[in-house]
Amino acid sequence: MNVLVVYAHPEPQSLNGSLKSFTVERLVRAGHDVRVSDLYAMGWKAAADGEDFLERDRGRRLDMMKDSKHAYVTGTQAADIAGQQADLLWADAVIFQFPLWWFGMPAILKGWVERVYAYGFAYGVGEYSDKHWGDRYGEGVFKGKRAMLVVTTGGWESHYGARGINGPIEDVLFPITHGILHYPGFDVLPPVVIYRTSKMEDARFAHVREQLGQRLDGLWTDAPIAFRKQNGGDYEIPALTLKPGLEPGDGLARGFEIHLQRRDS
Ligand SMILES: Cc1cc2nc3c(=O)[nH]c(=O)nc-3n(C[C@H](O)[C@H](O)[C@H](O)COP(=O)(O)OP(=O)(O)OC[C@H]3O[C@@H](n4cnc5c(N)ncnc54)[C@H](O)[C@@H]3O)c2cc1C
Repeated sequence: MNVLVVYAHPEPQSLNGSLKSFTVERLVRAGHDVRVSDLYAMGWKAAADGEDFLERDRGRRLDMMKDSKHAYVTGTQAADIAGQQADLLWADAVIFQFPLWWFGMPAILKGWVERVYAYGFAYGVGEYSDKHWGDRYGEGVFKGKRAMLVVTTGGWESHYGARGINGPIEDVLFPITHGILHYPGFDVLPPVVIYRTSKMEDARFAHVREQLGQRLDGLWTDAPIAFRKQNGGDYEIPALTLKPGLEPGDGLARGFEIHLQRRDS
């Protein structure tokens, strides 16, 4: 299988750097082909702007979505964007590895998403009608591929628990797992989260590697997060609201959790 690791940390000797090297070694030893997009090492341009569209008419107002689509369709995107799109299409599985910075991904990785996920490639695809609202959330260019986050945090596991002050980790990461990965079609595995990284003595590091190794071994077999499919009948279209009665509990459930298949369904 082909695996693309998109990695965002500025220091090769960081914990993230060590875990990235471990991941590559583990996957290669298991017989997989691995490519790494090491965004800092590549000097990745983080800001999406008009320079990404090589033949844009500079006399005209920039329209990020339209210009993105035009450049994608006509093959006039910046070469670094087209290269990453090719790597995504090559991959059977994609791993995003990053430290949690301000409750999200480092800006360089967010910029990778903004630039590489062109209109017509990762969004704005498929039929839009009163039965089907684009190929999104379970459909799209990455349908059939798998994705997983490997994330390190300063906060403790309890800080990200059900009653933790930072909010549950599933909610913190939902804009990435659901919004960035499930939206263009990936089956998204539960994230690997390494908490409280300031306490990383050797024994714990060995344990972390072992746990990460098990998750990498299960990349093709572990069950993905049970996100609902947008066009699978669970949502009113075009309102895109979950149909009444499908949410868990007494009908008052709200928030991200309602977009998961119920365990009893
Ligand atoms: C701008 C910014 C915003 C942040 N926002 C958040 C936030 O919103 N929420 C949150 O929870 N945290 C936040 N943090 C903390 C951040 O998530 C952690 O600092 C980060 O996850 C640690 O990963 P690292 O790779 O940088 O670790 P490092 O600092 O490189 O290492 C962490 C520990 O692991 C040890 N280590 C490194 N390599 C090895 C190795 N090979 N073997 C054994 N031990 C090793 C180090 O000695 C150190 O003790 C933020 C930090 C920054 C800088």
